Amino acid sequence: MYDYLIVGSGLFGAVCAYELTKAGKSCLVVEKRNHIGGNIYTEQIEGINVHRYGAHIFHTSDREVWDYINQFARFNHYINSPIARYQSECYNLPFNMNTFTKLWPDVFTPAEAKARIDSERRERFTSEPKNLEEQAINLVGETIYRKLIKGYTEKQWGRPCTELPPFIIKRLPVRFTFDNNYFNDAYQGIPIGGYTQIIKQMLAGAEVRLGCDFFSHRKSLTVVARKIIFTGAIDQYYDYCFGALQYRSVRFETETLETDNFQGNAVVNYTSADVPYTRIIEHKHFEFGQQPRTVISREYSTEWKKGDEPYYPVNDLKNNDLYEKYRERAAEEKKVIFGGRLGEYKYYDMHIVIKNAIETVRKEING
Ligand code: FAD
Ligand code: UDP
Repeated sequence: MYDYLIVGSGLFGAVCAYELTKAGKSCLVVEKRNHIGGNIYTEQIEGINVHRYGAHIFHTSDREVWDYINQFARFNHYINSPIARYQSECYNLPFNMNTFTKLWPDVFTPAEAKARIDSERRERFTSEPKNLEEQAINLVGETIYRKLIKGYTEKQWGRPCTELPPFIIKRLPVRFTFDNNYFNDAYQGIPIGGYTQIIKQMLAGAEVRLGCDFFSHRKSLTVVARKIIFTGAIDQYYDYCFGALQYRSVRFETETLETDNFQGNAVVNYTSADVPYTRIIEHKHFEFGQQPRTVISREYSTEWKKGDEPYYPVNDLKNNDLYEKYRERAAEEKKVIFGGRLGEYKYYDMHIVIKNAIETVRKEING
């Protein structure tokens, strides 16, 4: 009998396993994929650490979380500065003075940029925005919306901006400095050598079974431990009894190219509707790689259906209401704890997942 069965070897499950084994508890981790790490898994191809499930940049302003993750790897000084390609044009993200001076050749100063954006906002201002398009134009005006937001967002969410709720982009960071740093956090970087090594260390004290889907062995696994930490999809755990939650999935098309530098940046977003993918990741640039070849991944956003990998919860009002029903049911469980992106149906970044997992174990140990 184990103290804990942990379903899923992603970041949430791995932090729980590490903290629980440190506190003297025995853990069995079951993972349906044939590798550990969940979506932060990295694998080496051509000597390059490839982010198999999409670009993962660690960022946080929480000193405790930053110190915590630094126990397991050394982080480099990578700063996320994505590029946006719109037709034959190329811009810096997030929206900042580098973007504005390129969009409008007669704009040089912050005051000129502000005046330009303000005049566009006034032209089509809606007092109570009813959809994402109206909200975006209220915030940044027509030009930025049309070139840098509309196509990308419609591809990402699979529906027109006029049918998406405004709250998805409550705020869009607009910076009137020449600063291409995508995040505002105090700490940022990529673990040198990739993320898998971190998970491997976290799981060192636990027993791990790969290729083991909880639902294929539900009966025997439910009695193998005193408690269960479940990091899979909560609606699946309850056999979709209240209905299926919606997710967005992603198809990654990964290719090795006979060039040492394909796009000169780790992340290039394609913001026009006529390009079918949302972005191309060139993995070597996360670690300033000098390898002779390069590996790129095109990301295609798709509607999730049963059997696909659920990457992004769709946290609109309808789905959040449905999730609430599952959460209430889960709160009654004595033996099962739900955690992580799928267990809590929340668009969590890595630093939040770490914090939540540490807190979950603290409660378990100290009550
Ligand atoms: P997961 O990583 O999904 O782990 C869950 C694990 O459970 C998986 O390994 C899964 O196979 C397993 N599992 C599920 N069901 C079962 C079952 N029935 N039986 C056995 N095993 C099961 N965060 C950042 O901070 N920075 C970023 O730049 C960033 N970029 C992202 C880009 C993309 C495309 C995506 C999808 C996410 C990104 N994130 C980013 C978020 C980050 O991936 C998550 O915060 C983190 O991976 C969540 O960890 P988790 O353990 O909750 O979930
Ligand atoms: N977004 C956009 N254009 C871009 C990048 C992002 O309009 O070039 C919008 C889009 O609506 C997207 C949201 O910003 O859904 C968040 O995107 P981001 O890449 O920051 O987050 P992620 O999808 O990686 O969680």
